[in-house]
Amino acid sequence: MEIRFDDPTRERLRRRLLQRGSTLATIIADLLAGKDRERQLAALGYLRPGLRPEEAARNALDQVEARRRLLVDGDDRYGRCDICGTDLGMLSLFEMAWADRCHTHTAS
Ligand SMILES: [Zn+2]
Repeated sequence: MEIRFDDPTRERLRRRLLQRGSTLATIIADLLAGKDRERQLAALGYLRPGLRPEEAARNALDQVEARRRLLVDGDDRYGRCDICGTDLGMLSLFEMAWADRCHTHTAS
């Protein structure tokens, strides 16, 4: 199997995923405590019409965790578009380590 990420790169991506997950977990805890975190969720791009903020945050956390698991497991699907399999490229992954769609297949 082709090695796509060397160890320092994988570690860097893993940390980015952990940070994002931690941010989302904090938002969820705040929401459960009755705090308003809609603006923060919107800034992260997670607010969806018809979805409660808590649901949006939980979905986002699930998604980040799923990507982290792929990376840690050395699963080749990590860093590729879920739809077409295109390699998302290191620049995109360093920006959004949890990305799972190429530009063409990004739901907007
Ligand atoms: Zn795609």
